Amino acid sequence: MSKTAKIGITCMILLVIIPVYFYFFQSDKEGNGSIRENVKVVQKATKTASTDLEAEKNEKASANQDNKATAKNEESVKEEMRKEDQKTVNPQVDDEKEEVQSDFLVVIDPGHQECANLGQEPVGPGATETKIKVTGGTSGVATGKPEYKLALEASLILGELLESRGVKVIYTRTTSDVNMSNKERAEIANQNQADLFVRIHADGSTNRSVNGLSILTPSEDDKFTKTIFQDSLQASQLILNETQKNPAVKVNGISYRGDLSGFNWSQVRSTLIEMGFMSNPTEDKNLSDTAGYLTNLLTNIADGIMLYSSHKQ
Ligand SMILES: [Zn+2]
Repeated sequence: MSKTAKIGITCMILLVIIPVYFYFFQSDKEGNGSIRENVKVVQKATKTASTDLEAEKNEKASANQDNKATAKNEESVKEEMRKEDQKTVNPQVDDEKEEVQSDFLVVIDPGHQECANLGQEPVGPGATETKIKVTGGTSGVATGKPEYKLALEASLILGELLESRGVKVIYTRTTSDVNMSNKERAEIANQNQADLFVRIHADGSTNRSVNGLSILTPSEDDKFTKTIFQDSLQASQLILNETQKNPAVKVNGISYRGDLSGFNWSQVRSTLIEMGFMSNPTEDKNLSDTAGYLTNLLTNIADGIMLYSSHKQ
C-alpha cells in the first residue's frame, strides 16, 4: 500500500473516531444536566416532565448532529458542541420554576400567646355559639417551656425552611406578647389569600405516657369548613405522609375537627400540626432539641407542604 493511501485511511479513521468520541462525551454531559434540572425542579411532576422532554429533544438534536458531524472537520464539531452546551442550560425552565414557587404563599400561625385572652368570640361566621378567643396552651413537663414559646420557635424554623425553597411566608405573630384571637389569626390568612394556613401547636394530656404527632384538619360535616375540607385534607395527608418517613417521630394520624374557630373562620385551606405531647417527658425534651429532633420533624413538614404546593400549581 502506498504512503499516500495509508495517510488517507488514517485520516478517514480519525474523521470517524473524533465525532463518535465527542458524541458520547456530549451525551454524558446532557445526562448529568438533565439530572441537575430534575433535582432543582423539586417534586414538580409537570416541570419534570417538561425537563425530560427537553432532554429528549436535546438527545435527538445530538443524534442528528452526529450524522452531520461525520462530514465535518474537528473544529466545526467542537463549535456545535459549544452551542449544544448552551442549549442544555435552558434558562426558560429556571425562570418558570422561580415564578411558580414564589407564587405559593403560606401563612404560619404559632399557636397561643404569652397571656391567654379568655374573652369570647363566635365559633364561625354568623354563629351565635361563642368560644374563648385564645387559650394559654399547655407546657412541657420536663422542660417547663410553655407551648406558645415552642410553637413560635418551631414556626420560625418552618418558615425559614419554606423560604429557602422559594415559598412566600407570612407569620401571624413573631413575638409572644401579642393579643390575637383565633378568628383574627384566620383572618390574616384570608386577607393575604394564603395558599395554605399552617397552625403550629403541641399537645398536652393528663396521661404522661400518651405521645405522638397528630394533624388536625377541618371537618367535612362542619358547615363553616365544607369548602376548604377537601384541599385542606390533601395538605394534611401529604404532611402526615412525610412525617411517617421519620423513624424518630411517632405519628398518630389525622383528626377531623369542626369545633375550632381557627378553621371555621378560615376561607383558605388550613391544617394544624400538633407536633407532639409536651406532657410526655421524652417527647417534651425531643421537641426542645431544636437543631436535631425538631428541625428534622419540621423538615418533614416542609417537604409535605412542598408536595402540596406542587399539586396545587
Ligand atoms: Zn395548642
